Amino acid sequence: MQSDIEIARDANIKPIVEVAAELGIEGEHLVPYGHSKAKLGMDYVASLADRTKGKLVLVTAMSPTPAGEGKTTVAIGLTDAMNQRGKRASVCLREPSLGPCFGLKGGAAGGGFAQVVPMEDINLHFTGDMHAIGAAHNLLAAMIDNYIHWSNEVRLDLRRVTWRRVVDMNDRQLRQIITGAGGPANGFPMEGGFDITVASEVMAIFCLARNLQDLQQRLGRILIGYTRDKEPVTAAQVQAPGAMTALLRDALAPNLVQTLENNPAFVHGGPFANIAHGCNSVIATETALRLSDYVVTEAGFGADLGAEKFFNIKCRKSGLAPDAVVIVATVRALKMHGGVARSALEAENLDALQTGLENLGRHIRNVGQYGVPMTVAINQFASDTAAEIKLVQDYVGERGLEAHLCNHHAQGGAGATDLADAVAQLADSGQSQFRTLYDDDMPLWGKARTVARQMYGADDLEADQKIRDQFELFEQQGYGHFPVCMAKTQYSFSTDPALMGAPSNHRVKVREVSLATGAEFLVVVCGDIMRMPGLPRVPAANNISVNARGQIEGLF
Ligand code: ADP
Ligand code: MG
Repeated sequence: MQSDIEIARDANIKPIVEVAAELGIEGEHLVPYGHSKAKLGMDYVASLADRTKGKLVLVTAMSPTPAGEGKTTVAIGLTDAMNQRGKRASVCLREPSLGPCFGLKGGAAGGGFAQVVPMEDINLHFTGDMHAIGAAHNLLAAMIDNYIHWSNEVRLDLRRVTWRRVVDMNDRQLRQIITGAGGPANGFPMEGGFDITVASEVMAIFCLARNLQDLQQRLGRILIGYTRDKEPVTAAQVQAPGAMTALLRDALAPNLVQTLENNPAFVHGGPFANIAHGCNSVIATETALRLSDYVVTEAGFGADLGAEKFFNIKCRKSGLAPDAVVIVATVRALKMHGGVARSALEAENLDALQTGLENLGRHIRNVGQYGVPMTVAINQFASDTAAEIKLVQDYVGERGLEAHLCNHHAQGGAGATDLADAVAQLADSGQSQFRTLYDDDMPLWGKARTVARQMYGADDLEADQKIRDQFELFEQQGYGHFPVCMAKTQYSFSTDPALMGAPSNHRVKVREVSLATGAEFLVVVCGDIMRMPGLPRVPAANNISVNARGQIEGLF
C-alpha cells in the first residue's frame, strides 16, 4: 500500500493560478507562495463582501479513538465527490501544527486518496502563518518583560503575569522555566514557560478576527496579568497590539491550495480544539463561501467539543449559519466504545458494536439541538464487515437518518458520491434553522452547566468555591456575555477518558478557568489539558529524512 506521502507525490498538482481561476479569481488578486500555494489579496477578500454566500457544511464526528476517525479525510473526500457530481464545492481546513509531525505518525492534511497538497509544505512551514503567530505572541512576551525591566508603571505583579511564550515544537522541557536569571542586566527572574503555538490566544484571535482592524483591537484586549492590587492589565497597556498586527498582516490573508483532485482548499488558522475553539479562520470560511456554492469545513475532536464550539463560538461570533452537518463514525471506534481493546478492533464483533452505537446516538441527539439537518458518514476501513456496516446503517435508520458508506480514503471522491448527493440535498433543502445552545445573557456558570448537561449528559457541573468565585468575578468585570470554551478529554462525553459509550450520571468538575479577552471566550478547564505536548519514546522524527532527489521521506 502506498503511504500518504507517496500518494501525494504522485499527485497531478495544478498550478495554483489555475485552481484560483476556476474560482473566478484573477491572477492580480493572488499572492503566490511558489507554484502550488497562494494567499488571496486582502483587498480582494474585502471586495467579496456583497456576494451571496454558498451553503456551509460542517463535518464533525463521534467520540474519537486515539487514531482519529477521519473528519479531515471525509471533509476532503466529500468536497471532491461534490465536484465530481458537478457541484462547485471548496473545503476549509485548519493549518497543521509543525511540532506534532515529529511526534506520532499521522498528518493533519488528510490521508490516502483524500489529501490536500502539497502535503509536505502544508504540514511543515506552509506560508509561514504559524511562525508569524509565534512571533507576534513572543513579541508581546518580550514587551511585557521589557516594560517591567524599565519602568513597570502600572505595577504589574511579577508573580501574576499570565502571558507565557510559544514555540511550534513538541518540547516538554520548556513547560515550566525560570526566565531572567543572571543578574540585573538580564531583567527580573520570573517563572515562565512555553506552550505550543496553536495553543496561543493569538491563534484563537487570528481565527475569529473579521479583518486587520478587528485583529488589532482584539490583540489590544488580551489580558497579560494583574497588578499588585489585582487589577487586570492588557496588551494595549504595554503598547503591543500595533506591532503584533504588523507581524500578522500578511498571515491573515487566507491560503489557497488544492485537493488531490484539484479542487480548492482553504487551509488557514489552526487553534487547539481544547483550550480554544478548534476551527479554521472565519476569514477563510467567509471567503470560501463567497467563491463556492458549497463549503465543507471541519471542527476538531468529536461533536461534543468540536461541533459545540463551532456552533456556540465560531458561528455565534461571526454570524455564520451552517446548512448541514455530517457526523463521521467508524466501525472501529464504535467497537471501542462497546468495550473492545484497541488491539482487537480488526475482528468482527457485533455485540460490542451494538453497545458502542450509544456513543453515536448521543452525538446525533446532541447535534439535533442546533436545528441543522444532519447525516452520518461511515468512514470505511478495510477490516469492516458487511454485517457491521449494516448494523450501523440500521441503527442510524431507526433514528430517521441515513448512514452513507464512504470509501474516499481508498478511492478519492468516487468513494463518497452517495454522501455528496445526500449532503447537497440537505444543504439545499432550506431546512436549517440554526440556533445556539444558550444565549449571550445567560450567566457564565449557567452556560458551562448547560453544555455539561445537554452535550455531555452530566447530572451537574461542580467546582470548588475558589473557582465559583472566579466565575462571579468575571461576571462583575463585565465578561458575562462571553461564550464558554470547554476544555476536556475528547475520548469520552465525561471528563474520564476511559469512560466509553454514552455515560450518564456523571459530574463535570471544573478545575480551572481563564479569560481569553481578545478571543472573547471563557476557557473552562475540566480535566488535565496539555498546552505543550512532548515527543514519544520513538518519535516520528527518527525516521524522517531527505533523499538524494531532495524529497522528504518518512513524513506520514
Ligand atoms: P480526524 O480529522 O478526525 O482527526 P483524519 O481524517 O485526519 O481524522 O484521519 C486520521 C488518520 O487516519 C489519518 O492518518 C488518515 O489517513 C487515517 N484514515 C482516515 N480514514 C481512513 C480509512 N478509511 N482507512 C485507513 N486510514 C484512514
Ligand atoms: Mg482532522
